[in-house]
Amino acid sequence: MIVETFGIRKYINTLRACYTVVGEKKEYGTDMNGVAVDQREIVALDEIVAGLPEEDRALFDRLFHLSTTIGELNPPQTMHRWIEKYFGSVDAVRRQKVVKVTNRWTLESSLFNELRAHRPLEARIPSALAEEIARSHPDPFDDPEANTPEDVFGRIRTRHAITASNIAKYDGFHGVVVFDEHDPLAFTEETVIGALDAAMEWFQKAYATDSDAIYPFFMWNCLWKSGASIPHGHAQMSLTKGMHYGKVELLRRAALQYNTVFDRDYFADYYHMHELLGLGMAHGDVRMMAHLVPLKEKEVILFGKELDDDLKRSLYCALACLTGDLGVTSFNLTIALPPLAETGENWANFPVVVRMVDRGDPMNRTADFGAMELYASSVVSSDPFRVAAQLRECAQIGERTGRYD
Ligand SMILES: [Zn+2]
Repeated sequence: MIVETFGIRKYINTLRACYTVVGEKKEYGTDMNGVAVDQREIVALDEIVAGLPEEDRALFDRLFHLSTTIGELNPPQTMHRWIEKYFGSVDAVRRQKVVKVTNRWTLESSLFNELRAHRPLEARIPSALAEEIARSHPDPFDDPEANTPEDVFGRIRTRHAITASNIAKYDGFHGVVVFDEHDPLAFTEETVIGALDAAMEWFQKAYATDSDAIYPFFMWNCLWKSGASIPHGHAQMSLTKGMHYGKVELLRRAALQYNTVFDRDYFADYYHMHELLGLGMAHGDVRMMAHLVPLKEKEVILFGKELDDDLKRSLYCALACLTGDLGVTSFNLTIALPPLAETGENWANFPVVVRMVDRGDPMNRTADFGAMELYASSVVSSDPFRVAAQLRECAQIGERTGRYD
């Protein structure tokens, strides 16, 4: 548990926020396929999958391609001490197991190396970050009504946030929802829900202004590593026309193709496979997953039927878990929503898709995305099984407080 400047506050947030995971004890307290869920490791995914009942293994193979390999090297004697210091032993680096998982439908893929996966997940939040955030104040978002434009339909105000019109637009409708609170990591369940409510009303207002603008996308970039230019807490909304954004449309087509080939619901199967592996948990209509094919570190995905209270709370629960318990400071969070009106396209079964990902230490100059991530495959250090274990723990903390029982 992190107990530095932000940590204490985050810890309390997590305690307040999370909910009871449906089926938790039944699903996860037992030992499946000889490997207890909390003992599982992504580098042993081949063994875990091999141990699944035939029907579950068939489901895995419908959704994913899995391959493993061993990378080998010979370090010179002069490197041994350095290697022992950083990797524990020379043998640990001499033969390295690499696991590659590919989603057969979206063709997202991730590479996991056991050397990277064994590093601790929790990063300490440097006090220098708190100072840096404090130094970025004051800024234009401290007084948005004076320092930001408003949309042609005006502003939406909720208890903890207000909308603005983005000054240099991504798209025809591109808004900002500015948190009242400057510190982007000082969010609470109430302020997150306030921002989401403002965003949803913004989509409706924009749609009412132009009935062709129907494809909504919500995004929240937090701190420099994520692409956020202003540290002050804010998220953005975009509403597009003609076709959803490419990556959302790709997911729709992938799911549709899966449905055509197998006559099954892609999203239901995708979640179910995560649940079978011990990576998924459900709450009402919300399905939460420590993603098996993460775009980058510690990615969490949620599917919901709509952006209702359950999904908003679950979103907050997962985010508070990442920032409060897994040392995440800079992140991207997105919500892909189905269109606001009928289209000629088939959006049946397409859920509200929430994705959030760690972008690494904002005080570190090295970018987390390199050529591999941009053009080939994600290279991921965080073990989804450990992310899932932490998500379950966060949810159980919620259960103990009894807030949503
Ligand atoms: Zn500010």
